[in-house]
Amino acid sequence: MASCQKEVSNFLSQINAKKHLNIFLEVFENEAIENAIRIDAKIKTGTQGKLAGMVIALKDNICYAHHKVSASSKILEHFESVYSSTAVERLLAEDAIIIGRVNCDEFAMGSSNENSAYGPVLNPLDETLVPGGSSGGSAAAVAAGVCHVALGSDTGGSIRQPASFCGVIGLRPSYGRISRYGLLAFASSMDQIGTITHNIEDAALLLEVMSGKDEFDSTVSSKPVPEYSKLLSQDHGFKIATLDDCIFHDGVDIEIRERFKTIISELESHGNTLVSESFPYLDYMIPSYAILAMAEASSNLSRFAGMTYGYRSKHAENLETTITASRTEGFGEEVKRRIMLGTFVLSEGYYDAYYSKAQKVRNVIKKYTDKLLEANDFLLLPVSPSTAFKLHANTKDPIAMYLADIFTIQSALAGVPSISLPLGWHSNGMPFGIQIISRMFEEEKLLAFSEYLMDKFSRK
Ligand code: GLN
Repeated sequence: MASCQKEVSNFLSQINAKKHLNIFLEVFENEAIENAIRIDAKIKTGTQGKLAGMVIALKDNICYAHHKVSASSKILEHFESVYSSTAVERLLAEDAIIIGRVNCDEFAMGSSNENSAYGPVLNPLDETLVPGGSSGGSAAAVAAGVCHVALGSDTGGSIRQPASFCGVIGLRPSYGRISRYGLLAFASSMDQIGTITHNIEDAALLLEVMSGKDEFDSTVSSKPVPEYSKLLSQDHGFKIATLDDCIFHDGVDIEIRERFKTIISELESHGNTLVSESFPYLDYMIPSYAILAMAEASSNLSRFAGMTYGYRSKHAENLETTITASRTEGFGEEVKRRIMLGTFVLSEGYYDAYYSKAQKVRNVIKKYTDKLLEANDFLLLPVSPSTAFKLHANTKDPIAMYLADIFTIQSALAGVPSISLPLGWHSNGMPFGIQIISRMFEEEKLLAFSEYLMDKFSRK
């Protein structure tokens, strides 16, 4: 087996060769080499952790002590974290190597990685296309082979959609499976840390290391954490509901629809039961998600005021100009749009018309999703209506951009786990994902079924 040191130096030269993709905001070169040498020594004495030598790229909204974390925003440009997120602490304790922090949409708001203050990421499979977002740097890093795996965050699709656009696996765990301590907050009731990997084994291993109770995040479940990586028995014989309103929606690319037909009929002929279910709420997905996510964002981002964190405007003269000028100069356009809309839907007189109504819609969607999952083991649907789109294609039209998330919002609102598997290939040369949703905290079943699907339907 190649030594960790060799692996790391290979990745470092790949990172250098692929600089133009704009994936990394910072590479922890010396530190990664030192850690690799240290872990190689541990391997020699058989004292290494579970993730020994796994090289990880970190989305730039996940804190790593004494390293910068900017959420790809100018407002946190020189900000250094004083503590590590729980997820990172647990990875390091098992001897993972963090190779750098990667680009994303500013504060994880976006679907193309074009909202970064540090420029867009290019899709490594076709450099004229976006990698998806907001974890665009994470998906591109794995697809470009500049690390083994990457961490991302998914609020409404930010792991699964870029995974789909870049042809890699994206897992969004159940809400409350992995601690959010040290994840810069966007919309706290939906934010989740998750993984981008080439294979299910790595996704399972990372999940078992990062999951479980944490005294710093009271929303984390205390449910025991199974050894997911030992439970990938390639199960099948399941009852799978196909969400036909999503799969056969007019807006979905015809080749994506065709691929679903093939997968559905093959799954049926292999002893699985397929039932088609309706999902009558598609029109409500973007509006309800947008209202809730923006409302939460407007509250979460109020802490960036030019006072205690990060950027302070040169024009700051008194309390008011410190706050207004720092925020005006520090935040990008999309973040400002969301703060303003979020403030509006929470304001007196509009709260009931928008925010409470969206909460009610969320409840209906959660109940309906749970009901489907009581009757079926899994739900099957697309990740996104199309393959990766051209750079700048949607930047002037926020609504068109939001529509890229139409199928990923359901599991975010319901809190249930979901995964994007790279099992589709379009004649335009780009991959696309197949999405599976499973019951709350049944990741072991989701991963075992994913392993079966990857084995059966991947391009060999
Ligand atoms: N693309 C979605 C948005 O812009 C989802 C983002 C996310 O999951 N962080 O809100």
